[in-house]
Amino acid sequence: MKALIAGKNEINKKVSAFLADNGFEVLLAEDVDNLRYFEGEAGDFSLELAGEKTRVDFVILTELPARLPLPVGGGRVLSLYETDKTNLTTRRERDVSVVFLMDYFCESQMSATLRALEDSIRLARSKRRVYCLSRFVRTSGYGAENLYKEARNEGVEFIKYESLDIVFRDGRFVIKACDGAMTFDISATEIFADGTRDVGDSFRLAAKKLNLRPDSNGYLLEDRHFLAPVRTSRRGVYHISRDVAADDLKSALMYIAGQVRARRSENGRDVAVVDGDKCVLCCTCFRSCPHAAMRPDSDERIMRNLAEACEGCGICESLCPGGAITLGGKKEKKSGERPDSGSPANGRGTLVFCCENSAAAAIDEALTMLGERASGIDVRVVPCGGGISMEEMGETLCSYSRVMAAVCIEGSCRHLDGGRRACLQAGRLSALLERAELSGSRVACVEVSHAMPGMFADALADFADSIQEP
Ligand code: SF4
Ligand code: SF4
Repeated sequence: MKALIAGKNEINKKVSAFLADNGFEVLLAEDVDNLRYFEGEAGDFSLELAGEKTRVDFVILTELPARLPLPVGGGRVLSLYETDKTNLTTRRERDVSVVFLMDYFCESQMSATLRALEDSIRLARSKRRVYCLSRFVRTSGYGAENLYKEARNEGVEFIKYESLDIVFRDGRFVIKACDGAMTFDISATEIFADGTRDVGDSFRLAAKKLNLRPDSNGYLLEDRHFLAPVRTSRRGVYHISRDVAADDLKSALMYIAGQVRARRSENGRDVAVVDGDKCVLCCTCFRSCPHAAMRPDSDERIMRNLAEACEGCGICESLCPGGAITLGGKKEKKSGERPDSGSPANGRGTLVFCCENSAAAAIDEALTMLGERASGIDVRVVPCGGGISMEEMGETLCSYSRVMAAVCIEGSCRHLDGGRRACLQAGRLSALLERAELSGSRVACVEVSHAMPGMFADALADFADSIQEP
């Protein structure tokens, strides 16, 4: 098997050595701009690198997002990682005060918190005034709790802020930090922060060249626990983040080796099937597929599904204007439909579409909590909220008086934006009903997680009460 290492990173040597020792052929693309094109699926990616056409089985992206914080309040904030702080411990001036600013540019990672705690202890010991400002207190794991205690004992001040106002004046940062009750005035000579709103051009370019779907901050997997430790939105393409490289590079590489040797087709999930007679090659599915599993075939004038890459989420099926896509070629009821509760098909009751990655894990408990009131609620489990089309929800209103889409919370959808898509579709249907002078409140969309049956039960009860049965 052949691997492509894409990106400039000091760990490339270690990654190459590991792959070679484990029988993989290695291709290195330190400058991702040399990647002319890259397409295909796990086990069969074709690419052109510096004029050479070749193919690889998988890719390890080692390019890292930049972490150069942007200026704040007119002053230059220093990077928590990239800045050597030793000089701060030796500087003569007595009034050096330092702020470690977390969760400001994006939600800070545990490794950043640990780094800030270690540095703040060192600086506090050298009699510097040190503040740690963060939105969240991360104490679980990695010895963070002890570091917090140690830092407090050394005199580090912790503020869990809700709002911040920062200006740079006369060579110092003047900070107003409000924790919802009190406002703290801090004057600091240095601010160190992690994260940035800008992952940098080379990282953005790498994600684009490999057709990966970053989050709103441009990161690939930092906040997406379900992709940990190294998976990306595209099967067969892995990303070694800073944290993973720092924590345990070897296990991450062993994980990748295991993944690429276990071919996917065994898992039996329905993949998208395109009916060539109906497809008009509008490319909507190609643009909307979060897993790069569609490829336009301009010779045959049809869209091709890449089965090895397809996650069977159904997003393309719900968006295809020609109705040319079906999951597993099946057009009948989706899997996971619960037996009728015996009453609703007469235009009464509620049908709830539940995403299998979130709501489906909470619905049983939610229905139990509703007790009697659960009668008249039917459930249809779907692979992803994004696969629920407006038309499908509309159709159910022929036999139910209400329809609800229960989907993943923003940011935790395995198909990246499935939940947001479902809520958009529900909103469109509701607006359409209103325009037809029908009650748009017969449609609802709720974001839930597997751990929120109580909230789910309340949402179902409120929805049932929102409209009287005909
Ligand atoms: S969205 Fe439908 S019609 Fe458009 S290219 Fe895809 S399969 Fe074809
Ligand atoms: S089912 Fe999902 S993963 Fe598969 S092609 Fe459609 S949008 Fe992409």
